[in-house]
Amino acid sequence: MTAREPVARPSIRPDLAAMSGYHSPQVTVDVRLNTNESPVGPPPEFVERVAANAKEILWHRYPDRSARMLRAAIGDAVGHPASGIYCANGSNEVLQNLLMTYAGAGRTTLTFEPTYALHSHLSRTTGSTVVSVDRGDDFVLSLAAAQDAVATHAPAVTFLCSPNNPTGVLEPPSTVTGVLEAVEAVGGLLIVDEAYGEFAPWSAAELIGEGRSLVVVKTYSKTWAMAGVRLGYMIGPDWLVGEMDAVTLPYHLDSMKQAMGVAALDYADAMAERVNAIKAERLRVSERLTDMKCHVWPSAANFILFRPPEHAPADVWQKLVDRSVLIRDTSSWNGLEGCLRVTIGASDENSVFLEAMADILERL
Ligand SMILES: *Cc1c(COP(=O)(O)O)cnc(C)c1O
Repeated sequence: MTAREPVARPSIRPDLAAMSGYHSPQVTVDVRLNTNESPVGPPPEFVERVAANAKEILWHRYPDRSARMLRAAIGDAVGHPASGIYCANGSNEVLQNLLMTYAGAGRTTLTFEPTYALHSHLSRTTGSTVVSVDRGDDFVLSLAAAQDAVATHAPAVTFLCSPNNPTGVLEPPSTVTGVLEAVEAVGGLLIVDEAYGEFAPWSAAELIGEGRSLVVVKTYSKTWAMAGVRLGYMIGPDWLVGEMDAVTLPYHLDSMKQAMGVAALDYADAMAERVNAIKAERLRVSERLTDMKCHVWPSAANFILFRPPEHAPADVWQKLVDRSVLIRDTSSWNGLEGCLRVTIGASDENSVFLEAMADILERL
């Protein structure tokens, strides 16, 4: 290869030039409680079944393009017809494909901050204009303020995240229903991101119907302990799933992933046990943090947002890393001054975190 300067280097899209990618610091530690994954992998029987599947797959053939078996299996599991299920490589890809179909250049999306950063990020990378409205005190969304924002900006796509990442706060049915009515009045689409829905007491999926402009997005990454597989899905009206065909890459879901998605659903009982264990640990961690005079937000997810008392959060975060515990420093995020987020891990991991916290807060 000869080294030479190109005559003119390609220039990045001007609207992307100022953006940075999505980053979550990965530090090597003993206790990793920073990215809301499951602390344990799927059951061993599942892994054996996947190994058996690998021998049956026709590796030289393209996969089933419309993932019929997977969509039928998910439909069965969630009580919805397969025609209203859409799958992609992680729920992030579901969100991106929704935005490519319903938002994009010349259209607006609406987010209520603080929330999952990818909602505004993917809106921008797909060329949409983002309008962000702040949540009220304690990160609770006021229905009147939300309806007002929808009526004012007439967004093509409105995002809710319930339970919300990074706050853990759950939207009640009255808020989702009220926002949906406002969204439908302006001809928009409401996306409810339920990545943590299995840890919560209710799901907006019960509001979905052919006559409604609502989709609920879910993932295998958290409850199903399959973040490494990259599989997410959406429940929505049939007509909408049909329209997403226009942007979906042919054969985007590989054969192995489709088989893994089907197999996982046979271990729903094992997963429900894990969810219950995490919910019990969530209570224990939140009570201990409250005892330590941390401000703890009520969480319906597998993580807890909290504010340590009178201490620089970055300091607490670093001292945890020094003790080989990694949590998420959210204190520089808009609206989250002073806050840290901890994923609920296995019981012994949570104990290590809590002991480290007690030690740090005593010494600081
Ligand atoms: C973790 C998370 C996701 C999951 O994304 P995948 O691409 O399915 O791994 C989606 N939404 C929110 C709010 C999350 O926190």
